[in-house]
Amino acid sequence: MVNKRVVVIGAGVSGLSTATLLLQQEKEIKVHLVAKHFPEDLSGEYTSPWSGAYWRNYATEDDIRQQVTINPSAYLNYLLNTFISLGGTTQHVSLSHLNECIGSDTDVVINCSGIHAGTLGCVEDPEVYPARGQTVIVQLPQDYVNWAFFRHCAGSSNTWSDNMTYVIPRENGEVVLGGTFNEHNYSTDVDDNIAEAIIQRCLATPSEKFDKKLLICHNYGHGGAGFQSSYGTAKHVIEIMKEMLEKQENESNKC
Ligand SMILES: Cc1cc2nc3c(=O)[nH]c(=O)nc-3n(C[C@H](O)[C@H](O)[C@H](O)COP(=O)(O)OP(=O)(O)OC[C@H]3O[C@@H](n4cnc5c(N)ncnc54)[C@H](O)[C@@H]3O)c2cc1C
Repeated sequence: MVNKRVVVIGAGVSGLSTATLLLQQEKEIKVHLVAKHFPEDLSGEYTSPWSGAYWRNYATEDDIRQQVTINPSAYLNYLLNTFISLGGTTQHVSLSHLNECIGSDTDVVINCSGIHAGTLGCVEDPEVYPARGQTVIVQLPQDYVNWAFFRHCAGSSNTWSDNMTYVIPRENGEVVLGGTFNEHNYSTDVDDNIAEAIIQRCLATPSEKFDKKLLICHNYGHGGAGFQSSYGTAKHVIEIMKEMLEKQENESNKC
């Protein structure tokens, strides 16, 4: 890993976790993070700031001690600041093709472009699609709600659709009421009828080729669990990257 130059695409929870963990684990590498959106941005194209950011251990259904709620804005800024303090560099850029972030000295690209993995040139993964999530955020006195609730029932089409109900309190008194999970729906418009229904539900419930040999690792497609899985998937993608680099080096030493 010494002197390797890694480019991470994406400053959502996946990209920031991966880039930060990489610098925490490997002291002598350079990590450059490129993204169209950073934590200060709010855009329908950038999922992480809108997240409920609830972490729940699916192994123990009713154990409240196994649940953590995260404030996405605070956490994304924490990750970005940690990344920069460890020597990471950033660049605001909107890429149309993966090769636009590849320099002559780039050894690895880690792609954390989220939903855009479907359109980013050279990735264009046809299996990536959005799921529209609408929530209502209410401001209540701190600790007014000190429990989280999550329940989903299959709708008529056997999907989560509009029948998901959740309540996620944050440390600053914000409470996220949810929600929807409409697959293949690209709309970012707020639907007032859906907002009203959410409130009522919550109230009612307690390749292309490059000239240079380059390694590309993908870390996207976490659906409704990107925050929950961010640390684990970041660790995993770094392990894969190291294995592949070691393999490459062993092969080139043989030649
Ligand atoms: C309403 C809602 C509630 C949710 N609740 C939870 C929850 O309770 N728990 C949980 O674990 N998860 C939850 N999720 C899911 C979670 O928010 C996502 O899985 C996660 O935010 C995805 O993060 P990401 O980093 O992969 O993508 P994003 O946050 O979308 O980040 C993608 C990054 O890539 C950059 N990028 C993409 N394409 C390009 C390009 N061409 N050029 C330059 N930059 C590019 C973007 O600018 C951005 O920086 C929820 C989601 C929603 C919508």
